[in-house]
Amino acid sequence: MSIKNNLQHIKTSIPNHVTLVAVSKTKPVSDIMEAYEAGHRIFGENKVQEMADKHKQMPKDIEWHMIGHLQRNKVKYMASFVRLIHGVDNFKLLQEINKQAKKHHRSIDCLFQIKIAEEESKFGMTAQEASDIITSEAFSELQNINITGVMGMATFTDNQTQIQQEFKTLKNTFDSLKLLKKTNFNPEIISMGMSGDYQLAIDCGSTMIRVGSSIFGSRNYSI
Ligand SMILES: *Cc1c(COP(=O)(O)O)cnc(C)c1O
Repeated sequence: MSIKNNLQHIKTSIPNHVTLVAVSKTKPVSDIMEAYEAGHRIFGENKVQEMADKHKQMPKDIEWHMIGHLQRNKVKYMASFVRLIHGVDNFKLLQEINKQAKKHHRSIDCLFQIKIAEEESKFGMTAQEASDIITSEAFSELQNINITGVMGMATFTDNQTQIQQEFKTLKNTFDSLKLLKKTNFNPEIISMGMSGDYQLAIDCGSTMIRVGSSIFGSRNYSI
């Protein structure tokens, strides 16, 4: 199957209200161009440098999403162009994104990463931590960021019931945070679901799926 066919297959199997982020991490520009030429415009990367390099080389109407764990000192390398940052999990990082966005006279959309998996290795905050940030006065001062929703990653397991429970937890967190009102908090996105579990995620309320290997094939990290 070609990249174009894979994309077409996924797009016809998901509802219209669900946004597909094509996760292109580790993949060469030529692969991404294939998806681009098939009409796709939204790509996700998990390393800032790699994303910035690709952004420089590629058409400027691409929406670049940062989906990986983000260090504060890297924000400046993508602040001019990044479309959505999925993995914000602490206030200091948010302050830095706001500062860099301000330098570029723009606002940057971000998602709060909520920890739904049981593994220690998955990043994210609790619903309470997210709520505490949103309701704080310091948050109101960040006028160059806009929190547009939540993101989560389920546990790496074959246990569908567990994955479903974790997705439901993220949906419930979204629904409860949605009751909070702030000018820079406008929740509409639930980013959950990857190649192996995006149908289940959509059934549980996902509005944005992040799919890599089902589009581009498996990744080789050794090169
Ligand atoms: C790599 C990655 C994906 C895509 O994973 P696939 O299983 O290849 O679809 C989705 N989300 C995040 C955060 C990732 O790092």
